[in-house]
Amino acid sequence: MVASGGMTTLRYMLACIAAISALVFSRSGTASAEDKPPLSKDIVVTLLGTGAPLPSPARFGPATLVQAGGLNLLFDAGRGVTVRLFQLGTSSGSGIDAVFLTHYHSDHVAGLPDLWMTGYMFGPFGSRAKAMRLWGPSDGTSAPSGVAKIAKGLAEAFSDDVRIRQLDEHVSAAATQIEVRDFHGDQVVFDEAGVKVTAFAVNHGDLIKPSVGYRIDYGARSVTISGDTKFDENLIKHAAGTDLLIHEVFAMSEQMAKLPQLRPIAAHHTSPEEAGTVFSRVKPKLAAYSHIVLLGTDVRELSTRTQSTYLGPLEIGEDLMRFTIGDRVVTKRWNAELRKYPD
Ligand SMILES: [Zn+2]
Ligand SMILES: [Zn+2]
Repeated sequence: MVASGGMTTLRYMLACIAAISALVFSRSGTASAEDKPPLSKDIVVTLLGTGAPLPSPARFGPATLVQAGGLNLLFDAGRGVTVRLFQLGTSSGSGIDAVFLTHYHSDHVAGLPDLWMTGYMFGPFGSRAKAMRLWGPSDGTSAPSGVAKIAKGLAEAFSDDVRIRQLDEHVSAAATQIEVRDFHGDQVVFDEAGVKVTAFAVNHGDLIKPSVGYRIDYGARSVTISGDTKFDENLIKHAAGTDLLIHEVFAMSEQMAKLPQLRPIAAHHTSPEEAGTVFSRVKPKLAAYSHIVLLGTDVRELSTRTQSTYLGPLEIGEDLMRFTIGDRVVTKRWNAELRKYPD
């Protein structure tokens, strides 16, 4: 009786997995959904969210997926990150090998609880078997780092969900853990499967420390992500020779620039003209904007203003825009209607 009961349960579970997989991936429209890309020398970078705090349906919160060496690395976890991963057919759980935070402003972290909890749930959108690995900067003092506080706070805030799903759905205890890796100062923070991630300090303003950007190197290919920053010499130094430079931008109309409330915010970010200067000095194969703030202005003006200081190749990022870094950098736009990239 026990054996047949066990078989029934097993059969039921297998049927569930098949049904959920079919449902999930037919909805996401991904013909051959694969968590991990086939091993190649290229780096594939997908902008999952190109916005900032504005709760825009067009631009989700900042998050960038970097795929290299058979690994999926996530940089920042802004609002909606789990939805964008689902659109790609990538699991928020088993599909993500490591998460790196640039700093602790809410727009970069708001999607993290969802990523963590959806990741340990049963189904192809979750099914993480191990702890979620989370990297983030510390201020170098003995005080708990931002990532340590986030991990501790999430465990406390959602202890009921963790308890219930462990008892009820037999989610493993390991899958509900968050493994924290904090660091201070410019250094290599990750080195696995030939993929090296270097964190470097950026200047997001005196009160917003620590704040870092990341450079990812894999063989001869590389991508550099600015995080949130003002014009910064340290970023230019670390981005030297990079193939793809993804930079934040904050563009205001002259009228908006007169508003006293916006002045301190604008002072923490990079104007299009300044970003153009960064691009001109770094000379990447391709420059791309993400974390795009447009106040009283538009994408066309953003291009024009950038071109006043930079005449090289530039993409204004869009959610799900994808860059393949090979001998050259190829850009693909997500086709929302067909729910795939063009071939
Ligand atoms: Zn931000
Ligand atoms: Zn910020």
